Amino acid sequence: MDIVNPATEEIVATVPDTTREDVDAAVARAAKAQTAWAALPPGDRARHLRRFADAVDTHLEELAQLEVREAGHPVGNARWEAGNARDLLEYAAGGVERLNGSQIPVPGGLDVTFHEPLGVVAVIAPWNFPMPIAAWGFAPALAAGNAVLLKPAETTPLTALRLAGLALEAGLPEDLFQVLPGAGPVAGDALVGHPGVAKVVFTGSTAVGKQIMAKCAADVKRVTLELGGKSPNIVFADADVERAAAAAPGSFLDNTGQDCCARSRILVQRPVYDRFMELLEPAVKSFVVGDPTDPATQMGPLISAAHRERVRSYVPESAPAAIRGEVPAGKGFWYPATVLEGRPEDRTAVEEIFGPVAVVIPFEDEAEAVRIANATDYGLAGSVWTRDVSRALRVSRAVAAGNLSVNSHSSVRYWTPFGGFKQSGLGRELGPGAVSAFTETKNVFIAIDPVEESK
Ligand code: NAD
Repeated sequence: MDIVNPATEEIVATVPDTTREDVDAAVARAAKAQTAWAALPPGDRARHLRRFADAVDTHLEELAQLEVREAGHPVGNARWEAGNARDLLEYAAGGVERLNGSQIPVPGGLDVTFHEPLGVVAVIAPWNFPMPIAAWGFAPALAAGNAVLLKPAETTPLTALRLAGLALEAGLPEDLFQVLPGAGPVAGDALVGHPGVAKVVFTGSTAVGKQIMAKCAADVKRVTLELGGKSPNIVFADADVERAAAAAPGSFLDNTGQDCCARSRILVQRPVYDRFMELLEPAVKSFVVGDPTDPATQMGPLISAAHRERVRSYVPESAPAAIRGEVPAGKGFWYPATVLEGRPEDRTAVEEIFGPVAVVIPFEDEAEAVRIANATDYGLAGSVWTRDVSRALRVSRAVAAGNLSVNSHSSVRYWTPFGGFKQSGLGRELGPGAVSAFTETKNVFIAIDPVEESK
């Protein structure tokens, strides 16, 4: 498979395309490696993961430059992404040592709870944040004593392959963490259907997530789904409107809007609507678009020509817009920052566009804001801008989404739980439960004194 730099349209690498037979062989090798890995004392597993984290840290710039080339991400963002993969490995290493069972008082004996690894885990990753999202799966899964088969997206396998190389250089056992670049309907589908795979962690579109969940049902395979979003950014009249407008562009233009948490629906209370729009225009237009290798760049191209066509199918560049930014001329899959004024029921206001497009919608009162915020099938994230702490909490609790932020757009911290309500997903990643999500809970009762047997 040819890997194309989205900013230049040049082929930067060619990688193997994993077949179904390759998947069979990889699962068999992973299962062998997993048995030995799970038998290691927890401290040894943690040490391996810390060495892997150190190797990522030493090669941070190399990984970031690979991300720039395969995904077109601005280099500053790509450095953060590589750092996030390192942080996940360190956090998961700490989790190995905190993965304790418990003892629950039961008359007549000793009752003990264990958390056992699942076996072989498949992590199927998207192209929008290739390194972090892969690491959210593979780091805690390895920490819990599992083997991992990572299938990166077709367009972005290079950082994943390099991470697997670094794992070996850091001394992780061979076959424990394998990367299988290839097509979703072939390599991905083979992993999901494989009886030797105990759990699938899928991050991607809601449509594919539904197919994967249905396929996992066949053998009651464990599944975590991190899917799409259409997150609201609710600006109340009592907010610091200057701050809200200054922060808004980053919330839907970062990663060229290819962000599951993008606040792509901006709901603004009527009394401050005009003021907000006045402030938003210069903020959007000053967002720096261009060469991803330039550290000053804030927004690069879209991932591919096909994805740009999809974004255009929602909003052609010639469509009327309240605000429209500029893009570089020449090669690259560029698409301008675009702000539309719309209604809650517009297709552009309810479907995930996954490009640098936001829709601004006015509202009258708190009840209407919550109603509009909840009027999609998604429920991943959201922001509330207000100076009233009671309202902040009330609205955060009323919006059906997994990750709310008040006077901020921050949703992702590796030490706090992350995931979606409704069709945005199933299960949680990151946070204190990250490692235990890759275990089965087992309860063992040891009779000591004779007791009357009931059940
Ligand atoms: P996608 O669903 O097209 O692909 C995701 C991954 O699934 C890729 O590796 C792909 O090869 C694989 N795949 C495709 N068909 C498959 C099949 N039949 N069986 C097994 N695997 C298959 O998604 P994408 O376009 O790569 O990513 C964009 C989507 O991901 C957006 O909807 C975005 O919101 C979502 N996303 C969600 C989160 C989150 O944490 N909730 C994070 C990032 C991205």
